Amino acid sequence: MSIEFLSDEQREIGELARRFADEQVAPQAARWDRDHEFPRETVAALGELGLMGVCVPPELGGSGADFVSYTLVLEQISRADAGLGTALAVHTGAGTMPIVVHGSEEQRQRLVPPLAQGHEIASFALTEAGSGSDAGAMLSRVEEQGDELLLSGTKQWVSNGSQAHNFTVFALDPAAAMKPSAFIARRGASGMTLLGEAEKLGQHSSSTADIGFEATPVERLGEPGSGMAIALSTLDGGRIGIAAQATGIAQAALDLAVGYAKERVAFGRPIGGFGAIQQKLAEMQTEIEAARALTLRAARLKDAGLPHTIEGAQAKLFASRVARHWTGEAIQVLGGYGYTKDFPAERYFRDAKITEIYEGTSEIQRLVIARGLLGEIARED
Ligand SMILES: Cc1cc2nc3c(=O)[nH]c(=O)nc-3n(C[C@H](O)[C@H](O)[C@H](O)COP(=O)(O)OP(=O)(O)OC[C@H]3O[C@@H](n4cnc5c(N)ncnc54)[C@H](O)[C@@H]3O)c2cc1C
Repeated sequence: MSIEFLSDEQREIGELARRFADEQVAPQAARWDRDHEFPRETVAALGELGLMGVCVPPELGGSGADFVSYTLVLEQISRADAGLGTALAVHTGAGTMPIVVHGSEEQRQRLVPPLAQGHEIASFALTEAGSGSDAGAMLSRVEEQGDELLLSGTKQWVSNGSQAHNFTVFALDPAAAMKPSAFIARRGASGMTLLGEAEKLGQHSSSTADIGFEATPVERLGEPGSGMAIALSTLDGGRIGIAAQATGIAQAALDLAVGYAKERVAFGRPIGGFGAIQQKLAEMQTEIEAARALTLRAARLKDAGLPHTIEGAQAKLFASRVARHWTGEAIQVLGGYGYTKDFPAERYFRDAKITEIYEGTSEIQRLVIARGLLGEIARED
């Protein structure tokens, strides 16, 4: 399915996000990048438009649109600023949706509406210093003390970490024979410390923070021992979001390269007149359309309640490679100017790389796809 086949509602939400991205995000993106600024006011404005809870049900304060609409919003916002795209993707897909899906009715009613309306920001804390792809090797643990559950450990590279009010966090659980469970930690809880922001290659407008917990009171999310299942099903959806983000970054690079190819003159003609440039731009547009089609296919399967693990992995694997490769080629089209901060090509290139790493590296996506093809023999453990 490409964008020609969208419903009127999907098209309207996509257009709303496109206008917002062009008018309120793109003009500020270079400054946010330079100043490493998390755009709080713009996040609040996204909330006012209903874009912080696009696919959250209306009875929980969300916009009640489908997952396809959510991916369209993510693509548009990421086209203008990938760091804001990360904030939005992690807030909605990784931070809020697990509460919508796995929370008790009381938790859903209490925790979701402020998140869906953008009054609060959500995060997802799975990774630790010694456990990334191998998330099950986490060391964070919860202890039961009377009626209280107390979390101790350190979570690494939590997107939105310095801004978040709500942390969906994973830790070993004595109630499940020390298998991981999911928990909710609230900002300001005792024993919780912001340990610092990571210094990154790109996406400087996003927060990537380490968070320490020392006997921090938390509440349980879902059944004891269901932590890995909750994390993996959350990432199944989250990966479709990252594919949309990567598609948006690549589209921004294409739009820039096409505009430049029409204007820049060399040897007495616009560089778009040279076959080498034409070939590059044609390949670039074709692969971006393919990335978008894979992303929308996975999102449609999710909306239909059909399995989408493999399709989401394919979309993320492909779209992130497209973004990383073609943002580099966009720099090439701009020549020396592309390497400078006079143009955003170098920012797109820096911002794109992480889409091959977070929410599951490309190697892990290939593993997921290979297991679909080969079954258990593709498991190394
Ligand atoms: C900017 C940023 C934001 C992030 N945001 C979040 C967040 O909000 N929440 C969160 O929990 N985490 C977050 N992360 C962590 C991110 O999800 C992890 O970095 C990622 O899952 C990879 O883990 P790792 O870095 O420990 O790499 P490792 O798992 O150590 O992998 C290192 C290399 O080995 C490869 N590898 C590992 N296992 C296998 C295997 N079985 N087969 C083949 N190759 C393998 C990997 O593909 C990679 O190339 C973020 C990271 C960054 C940099």
